[in-house]
Amino acid sequence: MNIILIAIPFFFLLIALEIITDKIRKTQYYRLNDAISSLTLGIVSRATDIAKKFVPFTLYVLFVEHISIVQLPDSLWVWVLAFVMYDFCYYWTHRMSHEINVLWAAHVVHHSSEEYNLTTALRQTSGGFLTWIFYIPMALIGIPWEIFLAVGALNLVYQFWVHTRHVPKLGWYELIFVTPSNHRVHHAQNEVYIDRNYGGVFILWDRMFGTFQEELEDEPCIYGIRKPLASWNPIWANLHFYWQLMKDAWRTDSWKDKFRIWFKPTGWRPADMEIKDPIVPADLSKFKKFDIEITGWQKCYALLQHLILIVAALTVMMNLASYSNAQIVAGVVFTIYASISLSLVLSNARWFKAAEFIKHGGFIALMQVLGAAPWLSQIALGLVVLSLLVLVVTMKQSIDKQIENSSGVNPTANQ
Ligand SMILES: [Zn+2]
Ligand SMILES: [Zn+2]
Repeated sequence: MNIILIAIPFFFLLIALEIITDKIRKTQYYRLNDAISSLTLGIVSRATDIAKKFVPFTLYVLFVEHISIVQLPDSLWVWVLAFVMYDFCYYWTHRMSHEINVLWAAHVVHHSSEEYNLTTALRQTSGGFLTWIFYIPMALIGIPWEIFLAVGALNLVYQFWVHTRHVPKLGWYELIFVTPSNHRVHHAQNEVYIDRNYGGVFILWDRMFGTFQEELEDEPCIYGIRKPLASWNPIWANLHFYWQLMKDAWRTDSWKDKFRIWFKPTGWRPADMEIKDPIVPADLSKFKKFDIEITGWQKCYALLQHLILIVAALTVMMNLASYSNAQIVAGVVFTIYASISLSLVLSNARWFKAAEFIKHGGFIALMQVLGAAPWLSQIALGLVVLSLLVLVVTMKQSIDKQIENSSGVNPTANQ
């Protein structure tokens, strides 16, 4: 039973409800480009998970079978123990992911949104190749892998609902559990909130280990990261901090620093790089959210393309067991290409139309390669036709705008 796959329809339902609440309350917690970017990062993360989890999972099974102290049975108390222990390990994984450069390079993705809503919960990393190490104690005390996977999925599902600004503080519940209020603090970049509240389900760990911070009424959260991502590109969102570390490691004259930069506290840089290439911290009092203006038709087109991405990704995820490796690779490659192409649409990049034409050809080909059912192929074809129509309107609009700009005349003025 794949708990996360079952939860996906509920995720979308709750997102829809939050968007409606946002409209009714006129809170403006949603921006289309940011929400699409978060969801796309979630899809890319799931796509890369297929390959990424193979080695740690195999090692976990080997540890349980060959070097664990005992083999624990499948009973209720083992489930409870596993659930609590998983969250304890998660606390330390998460805390180290904020406190060590190479781990932050992966986790930064989850924090790179400057909004805070349910789509932020799905903004997940495609990196994180080292964090499985923190869960080895669970294998060593013999928690069966089936239970380990299930409590891991339950932990992840729990964390979804706390990514909202519509739920206020929850009284006694705040003392024990992670809540929207104390997780808002975790996503804020205000000085007082930085590196606080790491728990996944239980906030008790933060209270025990001195990392708890309450949400303060006179200190509204400013969401995002100190060195803004300023991009909708999901690949860059995953690589930008690795790139920063690589550049510093490459350019520093100190051989010792080339190695230790990766394991130093987050933000640590070689002394010579601080001088050669200083990074000026952003002034929060002048904070402005990253945005790129696009037309209404482009927004409509971007939404349609996100639907295509979801259809392709869900088709692959739901049929993983029956697909060949070649089919899975085709699905993953398409997902990554389509997500980059979509970011070009959101960025109004000059070559987005060419990239999109290639994508549509790829989508039709992918449905053939995956042997999609006729009804699904028809939906796919319908989406492509509709997309092309909207794309043509979008192109015509931008041509009109170019003429308008070059002649200084409004092309619709004489109609
Ligand atoms: Zn975090
Ligand atoms: Zn979060």
